[in-house]
Amino acid sequence: MQHIYLDHASTTPLIQPVIDEMNVVMREHFGNASSIHHHGRQAKMLIENARKTIAQSLGASIGEIFFCSSATEAHNMILTNAINDLGVQRIISSPLEHHCIIHTLDHLAEVTDVDIVYLNVDNEGNVDLNQLENLLVDDQKTLVSLMYVNNEIGNILDINRVSEICTVHGALFHCDTVQGIAKLPLNVNDTPMAFLAGSAHKFNGPKGIGFFYMNGDNIISPMMYGGAQERNMRAGTENIIGITGMAVALEKALEEKEERANHIKALNQHMRNRLVELDDIVINGVNQIDNILSVSFPATDRADMLMFNLDISRISASSGSACSSGIEHDSHVLQHIGHPAERKTIRFSFSHFNTIEEIDFVMEKLKKFTPVKIEA
Ligand code: PLP
Repeated sequence: MQHIYLDHASTTPLIQPVIDEMNVVMREHFGNASSIHHHGRQAKMLIENARKTIAQSLGASIGEIFFCSSATEAHNMILTNAINDLGVQRIISSPLEHHCIIHTLDHLAEVTDVDIVYLNVDNEGNVDLNQLENLLVDDQKTLVSLMYVNNEIGNILDINRVSEICTVHGALFHCDTVQGIAKLPLNVNDTPMAFLAGSAHKFNGPKGIGFFYMNGDNIISPMMYGGAQERNMRAGTENIIGITGMAVALEKALEEKEERANHIKALNQHMRNRLVELDDIVINGVNQIDNILSVSFPATDRADMLMFNLDISRISASSGSACSSGIEHDSHVLQHIGHPAERKTIRFSFSHFNTIEEIDFVMEKLKKFTPVKIEA
């Protein structure tokens, strides 16, 4: 058995059509999109075609899509400049957001007067949307920043409800849609929002390229100055190889959406069926996306070695822990859903490249590293 990659929520491999497209662009379309000559115009056209692909997939206007280096960059800019430019006085978020949101909010709490409020979450990772509704009854100018799909436990947020609540109360909805793009329904006409952001490497595109949607009614200033690229929203020569690769990756993901989803659902179900062979297993989260399966293993004297043992068995999964000051502890998400610190969580995340045989191989290994159920 080859190495088995079960960490697709972290990053995904490039697919051949993306590599082919990027090869052509690297070789033939080296012009700078800001130049007015033939080569420049060609590069510009490729960028605008890619923008159209992304805009159409979201039901957005072409003028509402901007390219940037990553979702982290987009989220930093949106949260920071919504305060400066849109008069946001309060940001409501959840403690389960990605660090690129939480750490930006930590920083903003230090350097601005903005009120940062975190919604309550329960032990399944449900965010309290009744609390959100209650908080929004006052008339404080508010931005609500909530993620579509949690990258650690896979919980899917009811973005329609959040969007409705925000619309009724005049709040700005900013959605971290990184894990949902090309997997779940996402259309800004059906689900109005002020901002969203995506990242190519989560859907088999290249790393270091992402995009954001900014609704035409809520224009903010850029984070960087020094060039008129991206209609003055993101200075710096465009990453045309990344942009074109991302657009092809998105096209393919949408074309094969149902086929990939069915395959991934079957993998998830197979693993869940087989996990019952192990003793004292808990699946973290609720209403999860099928490509993420966060499994909590019992506390044993070998639990801490689980990730290491999987790794030496040539299985790449993700540990639900973070390391600070040399001490490993549960991630902020697991801590907030009350995951017992003595247990060990591993996130298995699938793609259409994985097979049932790979899941069976993982299960055979897991049976060696963690207690197996003893039938009565
Ligand atoms: N938000 C979520 C939910 C993510 O999973 C990630 C990446 O893991 C990010 C944001 C950050 O994206 P990027 O790597 O493009 O900065």
